[in-house]
Amino acid sequence: MTFSLITLLSDFNQLIPPPFSYIIAGAFGAVIGSFLNVVVHRLPLEESVAFPSSKCPSCSKEIAFYDNVPVLSYVLLGGRCRSCKTRISVRYPAVELLTALLFVAVTWRTGVTPALPFDLIFVSALVALVFIDAEHMILPNAITYPGMVSALVARVAIPYLVGAPHFDDLPGLMNGTFAGWPVWAASLGGALIGALIGGGSLWLMGWLWEKLRGVEAMGLGDVKMMFMVGAYFGWRLTILTIFLGVFSGSLIGILLMARQGKKDMQMLLPFGIFLGIGSILALLVGPQIVEWYAGQFK
Ligand SMILES: [Zn+2]
Repeated sequence: MTFSLITLLSDFNQLIPPPFSYIIAGAFGAVIGSFLNVVVHRLPLEESVAFPSSKCPSCSKEIAFYDNVPVLSYVLLGGRCRSCKTRISVRYPAVELLTALLFVAVTWRTGVTPALPFDLIFVSALVALVFIDAEHMILPNAITYPGMVSALVARVAIPYLVGAPHFDDLPGLMNGTFAGWPVWAASLGGALIGALIGGGSLWLMGWLWEKLRGVEAMGLGDVKMMFMVGAYFGWRLTILTIFLGVFSGSLIGILLMARQGKKDMQMLLPFGIFLGIGSILALLVGPQIVEWYAGQFK
């Protein structure tokens, strides 16, 4: 009887058919989104994300569990606190809805496999980083460090659980640079290359900017964030992520400068936002973009 862990795990897709897995992923994503709201709100203030329970920021009344249902409560309460009627920021339902949609998209992309939890952790970390960077212009170590650890664990475990193709740099590396290496070692090697390219290029950009302009361009938060992204993606999708980040960041920067009539690049944009959006795009459709781009030169 062939009853290995691998076949058992890869049969999850038959266990939970797509329409149901998408509904479950969406509901789970909304709940995680609700938790990410707490993380975004409390982590930069160095408050505990577990205790105490949520309070209305204006009247400090504790929010009852029935008023804390993701998205739904906001709609039912008309976007106002039940006791003091102060407007609740639209950011709360927006983060919940966005996380729900991203969880569905990632489930569609990855399928119900042992790789799914790692992809969901990755996306959740990125959502938290994007919203914290937008508000506070920091990318906390409390997210990027565990993110790096999760990426490295995934790099070792996933190739054995779902096969190498989940990491699109791995097949190439195993036929080239790391030929003859065990899968876990080649996978970690790929993570290291990705992290060095991701973190290294961000560090270099900051260093050059500082030399050219004499101002500090960005903190090491972006570098650490790209260590995390690079370790998870490997070199191919990391380069794509940086390209998408720089491209969208410059575009928005130019549009903002044009609107404000400024000619100077002095204005600082929280670059982590664009790197985060680039990373999520790369996770969802990165391999297709890379293949399409490579096809242009054939
Ligand atoms: Zn209130």
